[in-house]
Amino acid sequence: MAASLGIMSRLWVAGIRGAIWGKVPVTPLRSLCTQSDPFDTASRYKDQPWEYLASEEYLERYGQAAVWVGYRRNHKGAIPPQKTRKTCIRGGKVCGNPCPICRDQKLGLHYRNVKLLQQFISPHTGTVYDPTRTGVCQKQQKILAKTIEQSKDHGFLSTPLSHVDLPCEDYSNTHGAVARTLPPPSGPWYSWYEWQEPPARELARVRKLYAPFQKVDVADKADTL
Ligand SMILES: [Zn+2]
Repeated sequence: MAASLGIMSRLWVAGIRGAIWGKVPVTPLRSLCTQSDPFDTASRYKDQPWEYLASEEYLERYGQAAVWVGYRRNHKGAIPPQKTRKTCIRGGKVCGNPCPICRDQKLGLHYRNVKLLQQFISPHTGTVYDPTRTGVCQKQQKILAKTIEQSKDHGFLSTPLSHVDLPCEDYSNTHGAVARTLPPPSGPWYSWYEWQEPPARELARVRKLYAPFQKVDVADKADTL
């Protein structure tokens, strides 16, 4: 480190001297920096992102911890912002300190990438962690929530169901109250299920009432038959 600093300072001094005297061509300082990895969206794990989580590359970078552990968003002042960033990548330009998902393009949010999705779900409650905890930007959080739902639909993730205690009641039909139920009636369940002769007095009253409108006297006809 000290040696590289020494070389850098020498080169820098040489650059300034060269610039002053016009003898040595100026070496731009940025060219001395190690070139960072190109931010390539097309990774070799694009088709099967779950393979990345089992690779040595991943273990070297994250170990056994979740991808968002140790991520801290830069912010002004002592109080952190109440919302995470809207997006980390705008028009192909990556902001400084991108969120845990945006900073590693090899982490593909896919419904079959169960190991990654589980890192964002609480093992105790089964709910998705709040983005303020994980630091995931709002855009990726939306995609994450959608992917988790999709994964649950496909059966890769389990859906937690709250435990409901049944009230203290006996649902078995060997209960004493069941035996006391009355047996069904021998005839029809309801009186109007089958034809029953109306009472004679009621019949006579109706006949008398409709007698002026009847063309044939039903009672006389019945008598003749
Ligand atoms: Zn992001």
